[in-house]
Amino acid sequence: MTRSIVPRQTRIFRALTIFSSGMGAAMLALWALDMAGMTLSSYRDAATFGAIVLGLASLAGAGTAHAYFAGGDDTSQSYEALLNVDPVTDLLSRKGLAEELDGYLEQGGGPSRMNRFFLISLDFDSLREFNETHGMETGDSLLRVFGDRLRRVVGDTGLAARTSGGEFVIVLAANHDDRELRAATEALLGVLSLPVRVGNASHSVFWNAGVAEIHKNRPPMERILRHANLARSTSRATGRGTWSIYHPEMTQVAAYRHWIEAELGGAMQRNELMLHYQPKVHAVTGETVGYEALLRWNHHQNGAIPPSEFIPIAEQCGLIQQIGDFVLHQVCEDLDELPDHVTVSANVSPAQFNRDDFVSNLGRLINGTETRPDRLEIEVTETLLIRNHSEIRRLLGQLRDLGIQLAIDDFGTGYSNLSTLTELRFNTLKIDKSFVDRLTEKDPGASTMVASIVGMARSMGASVVAEGVETEEQAMLLRAAGCTIMQGYLFGKPQPLSAIKHQHRGGEPAVVADAPPPTLQPQALAAAS
Ligand code: C2E
Ligand code: CA
Ligand code: CA
Repeated sequence: MTRSIVPRQTRIFRALTIFSSGMGAAMLALWALDMAGMTLSSYRDAATFGAIVLGLASLAGAGTAHAYFAGGDDTSQSYEALLNVDPVTDLLSRKGLAEELDGYLEQGGGPSRMNRFFLISLDFDSLREFNETHGMETGDSLLRVFGDRLRRVVGDTGLAARTSGGEFVIVLAANHDDRELRAATEALLGVLSLPVRVGNASHSVFWNAGVAEIHKNRPPMERILRHANLARSTSRATGRGTWSIYHPEMTQVAAYRHWIEAELGGAMQRNELMLHYQPKVHAVTGETVGYEALLRWNHHQNGAIPPSEFIPIAEQCGLIQQIGDFVLHQVCEDLDELPDHVTVSANVSPAQFNRDDFVSNLGRLINGTETRPDRLEIEVTETLLIRNHSEIRRLLGQLRDLGIQLAIDDFGTGYSNLSTLTELRFNTLKIDKSFVDRLTEKDPGASTMVASIVGMARSMGASVVAEGVETEEQAMLLRAAGCTIMQGYLFGKPQPLSAIKHQHRGGEPAVVADAPPPTLQPQALAAAS
């Protein structure tokens, strides 16, 4: 079975060796005859000579063949051994880890004989992007640095492997106390997150980890790995640099995610997606100056599914491109139905910027729908700004050239700094709801923070929108801090276009508004399981 992994060149080389050793034996026999002074004077002599030569040749050939094929096991074993090692980092490969795992567990994880074992799956989020930007060789150098760091940290107390792409796996033993596991995982994340110098540049990447305990019944390694990976992707959803321990509920959540992924494609065809519009009002006059378009999915069987649940999945499975096109198209069409002084902002996911033709498509859409570009605002989150800066700067510049307004969403939750914001010339900063929530007379620090964001926005020539305003007290403190535009349930919930058109015609505020978003849906889970 192992022979199939022997490369073709090696098999050809073996055949040539056997052939030449046979020829060598024949030459040897000729030389021996010559030395013995024999001449081939008769037909019988020639026949005897031929038989001797062939006999010797086949003996030598068979011997060599035996040596090669019997010894072939060694060669195959060395190929096997090669497959157990990751050629880039020299750590164990996925296969090598599976082979070493039993022995490691049986030995009790080394001299200190601990009683619990854990598999930690570690991954950074940008290997593909990194390879595309810096080339595969630089990517390999980066992986080697991470491999070396892990080898040093783990030493001979555990197993370290690279199982695929940017995914590394550590198996280690820990005592009953979870603090030991926490310390080990955080040490691993800490050491991996240190900047890496490759060539002349320094690179930092963001890691997440997932941990699965290896229970006494020893489930197959693939299952443990699947659980650790699930824990890792769950922690990634909560933010970079985080980790979590696998819990069986995660399997249910993953089933729900699969269900959403499977249903989302059909949702487009079944026209289940639509936009609701939430007003943004002037802080002093109370006039509606614009709306934010917020996507709604009304599933034909399970009802409303909130965007916070399906957008991240659409981003991961690539459907966000199609969904994003739908949103922008719908916003441009709906703008036509709203008064001229009103602007509409659309949320655009960072993943939508990955497409080369994003800006040109949007330009065509604006022209095709005869939309006044300054009535359209694009909201992007700060996470977009920490990616390839020059590329993003170029794209945002092109959007500005089209005349479109740019807003930075959830401001204050990300990493952007003043110089980046000034350079990118945003029109609007949207203060995240978490700051607004903290605004009470009892917490003057929150008001000071808002006032400093307002001051910063002014210095950049940008306006400020406060998000998620729910109480009169918050509105009052925001006005005092100099905030000019507010958005939140206090002023209006997101509503369908028909309802806001009705209000603009002078009707009463519509009662058709968002119901509170449901959380994980039991029916969907049942359907998924
Ligand atoms: P976001 O862009 O920060 O949108 C604001 C969210 O806060 C909306 O939730 C809105 O309904 C909610 N909200 C507004 N005022 C209040 C308030 O006073 N109190 C409370 N508790 N909530 C308030 P929603 O519609 O569930 O959207 C959640 C997120 O989903 C959005 O956050 C945005 O990141 C994403 N999203 C929504 N529509 C789209 C879309 O068309 N494209 C993309 N890429 N993302 C979208
Ligand atoms: Ca938004
Ligand atoms: Ca927001």
